[in-house]
Amino acid sequence: MAMNEMAAMLGAAPLASDEKWMRHALALARQAEAADEVPVGAVLVKDDLVIGEGRNRPITAHDPTAHAEIVALRDAGQRLENYRLVDATLYVTLEPCAMCAGAIIHARVARVVFGAFDPKGGAAGSVFEILGTDCLNHQVALTGGVLAEECGNLLSEFFRARRKRKNS
Ligand SMILES: [Zn+2]
Repeated sequence: MAMNEMAAMLGAAPLASDEKWMRHALALARQAEAADEVPVGAVLVKDDLVIGEGRNRPITAHDPTAHAEIVALRDAGQRLENYRLVDATLYVTLEPCAMCAGAIIHARVARVVFGAFDPKGGAAGSVFEILGTDCLNHQVALTGGVLAEECGNLLSEFFRARRKRKNS
């Protein structure tokens, strides 16, 4: 791992399987991109099995809450027939926003692993510290910066292409 990547790491040290699941989330992010949505993907994992998947789809779904994390939480809730996702880990390509951080805590997700940091709205420390706070009953273990460059590049290339299209 490069030193600068190391420095960007946040919270608990990554586990060996973190990159594997982040690649799974990246594949979902690319599906969002193919649908012309901001490319963010999320996967919920429990006992090394997928229990929920989501990709960002607010435009397609006409739903401002349809962020990748919320879609994955709803998917897992339906699959497990349980509104509590105890012992699950959420992998998401971008640092969760305040809305998603709140939903993650409501779902009692045990751990969150995210890729790129979001200096404009991240709620895992970049702008707010909703995940990672010790003010709440439920504590979420947090690892940030896993495959951060790949996750971030996907987003910046998407926005660059969109600007180019708008300008032409
Ligand atoms: Zn969100």
